[in-house]
Amino acid sequence: MDVPALVRRVPSWFLPLVAAVLVALFPLFGVQADVQRQIILICTLALVVSGLNLSLGYAGELALGQAAIFAGGAYVSGYLGAHGHTELLLQLLAAAVASLLIGIITGVPGLRLGSWALAMVSFFLVLLVPDILQLLKEQTGGSFGLSGIQFPTLFGLTLDQEGFYVFVAVCTALWLLMLRNLVTSRHGTAFRTLRESPVLASSLGISVFRMKLSAYAIGALPAGIAGCLFANLDHFISPDSFGFTLSVSILAASILGGSASVYGALIGAAILQLGPLESTSFQQYALVVYGLLLVLGGVLLSNGIAGILDRVRVRAQRRWLPRPRSASFQGERLPAIEGRGLQVEGAVKSFGGVQALQDVSLLAKPGQVTALIGPNGSGKTTLLNMVCGYYRLDGGTIRLGDEPLSSTPYQVARAGVARTFQTPSIPPRLTVAEAVAAGRYASQKASFLSAVLRLPGYRRARNTDVEEARRVLALVGLEDLEHEEAASLPLGTRRLLEVARSLVSRPQVLLLDEAASGLDEDEVERLAVLIRTIRDSGGTVVLVEHNFRLVLSLADHIYVLARGQILAAGSPAEIEVHPEVMTEYLGVKTPAGERLLQTAGQESADD
Ligand code: ADP
Ligand code: MG
Repeated sequence: MDVPALVRRVPSWFLPLVAAVLVALFPLFGVQADVQRQIILICTLALVVSGLNLSLGYAGELALGQAAIFAGGAYVSGYLGAHGHTELLLQLLAAAVASLLIGIITGVPGLRLGSWALAMVSFFLVLLVPDILQLLKEQTGGSFGLSGIQFPTLFGLTLDQEGFYVFVAVCTALWLLMLRNLVTSRHGTAFRTLRESPVLASSLGISVFRMKLSAYAIGALPAGIAGCLFANLDHFISPDSFGFTLSVSILAASILGGSASVYGALIGAAILQLGPLESTSFQQYALVVYGLLLVLGGVLLSNGIAGILDRVRVRAQRRWLPRPRSASFQGERLPAIEGRGLQVEGAVKSFGGVQALQDVSLLAKPGQVTALIGPNGSGKTTLLNMVCGYYRLDGGTIRLGDEPLSSTPYQVARAGVARTFQTPSIPPRLTVAEAVAAGRYASQKASFLSAVLRLPGYRRARNTDVEEARRVLALVGLEDLEHEEAASLPLGTRRLLEVARSLVSRPQVLLLDEAASGLDEDEVERLAVLIRTIRDSGGTVVLVEHNFRLVLSLADHIYVLARGQILAAGSPAEIEVHPEVMTEYLGVKTPAGERLLQTAGQESADD
């Protein structure tokens, strides 16, 4: 059997699992107690860092409170351990609950206020830790620290140093495995989508707030667990262990190891633990060293050391696997779509002094392509944004079928309105199949827990995701690119991919913002066939487009916008010969158009 095929058959969790088992068995190989202690410290730091990676590297939220949550877990466990509740599983449970509570309480206000507010709130939390511990002096021992934490027990059996070491190694491996399952699941794709752009995420029906809070709360869990393990290591904890220095080292480890990576947490933690944290002569310069590592990781390495390893892997794969070409387009059929009419009535929107939309009304019918054309700045994108709920209307109504359309972006998406963007928006490090399947996030539910444990419900959702993504990729002629990295494809292909992503949720209304710009002739033709297919299947298509020829050939009805107002509306045949449109929009001067403009000018001068 050839090597590449063999390598591809090895599941990605195999090597990490072998490594974890080996590390857990170190005591059997006669590894010294002080080395074991180092590994325990690396594991605890890696746990804390992995939580930050989830919120920062995947969801894009800078939460700096990991050190405080770590302290919370440590003190809750330490208190239990000092009062005779030595059962480790009980302590872990208590620490997990405490960390979730701290995470949610500090996360909600920060997330509500926006990203920098979260960084600030969570950072202040760290500064408050010594004061809170002092306030609770009775329970925590205040600045003297909490001593008398008894040896931990597991199912009633006291754990010696080696037993505890194995427990920590297993805990860390299990958590990293669960985290890996989470970030490689459809939820992981949703987190990355959120990081790329909250606007994109909500256009796919993802609730931005709920998703950010989930990332933050789930990221708090390992910090609490690490706290519990830490409290049982030396049987003594004090506020000194949870200060500002720790916060910076957590951030440095995350960035140096690679924050958008699961195993990057281990790499970063190992470097920090074995480097500056350990050597006493470094202690006084610790902050400087962390700062340098931060700068090094942030400026020189994209996604840290894990990023370098990943690029090596991708390059090796490229050498072994030939790069596929996209297939020629067949123009496949779509199952029937239950399109619904989109009706905008009297929409008004101004930005400060700019009247972006003034009393705009339009109707897009199912089974038709409704085109919206007009010069740059005439308000086309603004109109789409109003439909999608990104801006509030100053006046007017928008209805989908017979019902008023929600004005919350993710609910608009869930109601069946999908869109593409003027500038394609595709998260990095996703395959084409994953990027397209992201469009299905809201159409099917599979809980975080079922994704982490890979339960049947999750597998079912995942399989449908893959099937649907493949079906739609075949429709746009990109099926051969399924495993390619989506964000690095050429512009034209990314546009088609966006159309595929918006189709995969079987939307009732599809909004295409300048879908053909940047496409070559062949791609434009593909797009045209695709749009006709959607229309003929019953979809409602709203097409914003500059390519006049394409619009004339595709549209059933055309609206012309100019300076935020509907200048003309009608069939392509009518618009093509409309004098005002020719002058305004195409710059063609016709005598009739000149006359019309002059009259319009006089009217406005009369006002
Ligand atoms: P089009 O898509 O037709 O090129 P837009 O809808 O992007 O035009 O813009 C219409 C007008 O509204 C422009 O004058 C633009 O500057 C203004 N505009 C759009 N979005 C905003 C915003 N978020 N803030 C301020 N002005 C905006
Ligand atoms: Mg625009």
